[in-house]
Amino acid sequence: MVSNNRRNFCQGCLASVGLSALPIAGLSTLVTAQTMALSSGSISSFSDGDMGLPVDFLYRDIPAAERDPLLAGSLNDLGVVNRPVNVNLLTYGNRKVLFDVGAGSNFLPSLGKLFEALEGESIDLSEITDVVFTHAHPDHIWGIIDDFDDLLMPEASYHIGKDEWAFWDSENALAAMPAGRKNFAVGAKSRFDLLRDRIILFSGGEEILPNIESVNSVGHTPGHMSFIVHDRDSSVLIAGDALTHEKISFERPEWPSSSDMDTDAAIKTRLKLLDQSTQDQLILAATHLPAPGFSRVEKADSAWRYVPI
Ligand SMILES: [Zn+2]
Repeated sequence: MVSNNRRNFCQGCLASVGLSALPIAGLSTLVTAQTMALSSGSISSFSDGDMGLPVDFLYRDIPAAERDPLLAGSLNDLGVVNRPVNVNLLTYGNRKVLFDVGAGSNFLPSLGKLFEALEGESIDLSEITDVVFTHAHPDHIWGIIDDFDDLLMPEASYHIGKDEWAFWDSENALAAMPAGRKNFAVGAKSRFDLLRDRIILFSGGEEILPNIESVNSVGHTPGHMSFIVHDRDSSVLIAGDALTHEKISFERPEWPSSSDMDTDAAIKTRLKLLDQSTQDQLILAATHLPAPGFSRVEKADSAWRYVPI
């Protein structure tokens, strides 16, 4: 039921935050595509590449002695945490639904591999019927355009949470971004301008497409959304950036992360999604969990455990 396509494309690749390049360790082979059968179709995970973020930015309020053992395997000697970027494609009925689109070619040199990965599985962009965004950060939305700033999928329908749209479309977004992240606001706005006459806005708890339910998961950004793909046998939670690390997000979900714009709301969201994933036995798919990003969530003592599929 699972097919892998391994390609050796990221040897020695660099990631950066802002303008500074940060080396990521240990990436010689990545899984670029994995597909899982559902009763109503299939869901695939494609790699857009990897990025690195400084550990002191991600978890600056947590003592290193507690924090670093949980980051073993993803933290290198330079204090950089590796973050894979996975993008999901749901195929069912006559639809192909892409959840986020990766970073494209203008954010980090180590990202923007999604379309190469899709091509590797013989998927043409013209087949994509819908693009659904979890949020408007660069690694999730910048990839909708080509090098000429034209939409790569002009025939697709585009969907985003209405609060996410309202925030990044407002003047507040630029002011809210810290120095070094101002381009997040500029980049979101320029993509929004291309989508303005076609974007479909929704709230949490709606059936945004047949069998796809939006789940309010604010905190990482003001209008972050997750999605449940309801399926007879294997319902899937697409969590976006609500759960970002295979140890810390599951075992210490109450730890604040500076990558979340509202840390308290993000913690509440993590606890809610972990609880729901366990209770409803959902398959979890999340952008920054180890590729291909599919897992199960198990209850473990007072917290949870990540169980890769
Ligand atoms: Zn992200």
